[in-house]
Amino acid sequence: LLTVRGLRKSFASNRVLASVDITVERGKVLALIGPSGSGKTTLLRCLNGLAIADGGTIDVAGELNLDFAAAPSRPQLAALRDRSAMVFQHYNLFPHMTVLQNIIEGPVVVQRRSREEATAEALTLLDRVGLTEKRDSHPFELSGGQQQRVGIVRALALRPQLLLFDEPTSALDPELVGDVLRLIRELADEGWTMVIATHELEFAREVAHEVAFIDGGVILESGSPAQVLRDPQHPRTRQFLQRLL
Ligand code: ATP
Repeated sequence: LLTVRGLRKSFASNRVLASVDITVERGKVLALIGPSGSGKTTLLRCLNGLAIADGGTIDVAGELNLDFAAAPSRPQLAALRDRSAMVFQHYNLFPHMTVLQNIIEGPVVVQRRSREEATAEALTLLDRVGLTEKRDSHPFELSGGQQQRVGIVRALALRPQLLLFDEPTSALDPELVGDVLRLIRELADEGWTMVIATHELEFAREVAHEVAFIDGGVILESGSPAQVLRDPQHPRTRQFLQRLL
């Protein structure tokens, strides 16, 4: 579903993505692991057009092919944004909107779907995550775990082909992590295609079909969770995993 080749991104003289290659098959989960500052967030932002890469290509479903050496057009970038949805580390809910408004904003304003249909779908999704009674609450009235489940529902409401998670549990208190991971695991079981940047190695081992280790803006190693997490080949991967154990 997703093929990325030679993706590059710099901020001024800071080369954050040197040359990233990843492939994610439809219905599969790629876990992205790597040290702080290795470029995980930047890669996810480039994948959904929140940041614009300087070079390389992104292909989605063989239908949309963006070549960043040739500066993609606005419609191409809009199409890229439409194919994927991001779940952020700090939830990034709109603070002045209710839970329901947060969820239907994208479908109604960006995708121009009817408010009735978007609301009905939002309520079904809220019911699924057990937050129906919070529909009229504001984000500050919710726990971090509840806010993140709304963040996930908001992403699902966009009906994306690809779900992108940027360390979805790293801002949560430990006792709230489980609910969010359980929901992500359910989505994986349902066959959503996902890229998840995470420090939760146990979760990555259980849920991901493939694990990629990124360091210095390059994927140094990728393979099955057993290969990369249990029997890493690259010295940098070994060093990183040892520090986390
Ligand atoms: P973490 O695990 O800490 O979230 P990360 O792997 O997600 O780290 P990034 O957030 O992608 O790493 O950051 C990689 C580098 O890019 C950092 O040096 C950061 O300072 C730089 N960077 C990221 N976004 C910007 C930006 N908008 N402007 C300038 N520099 C940026």
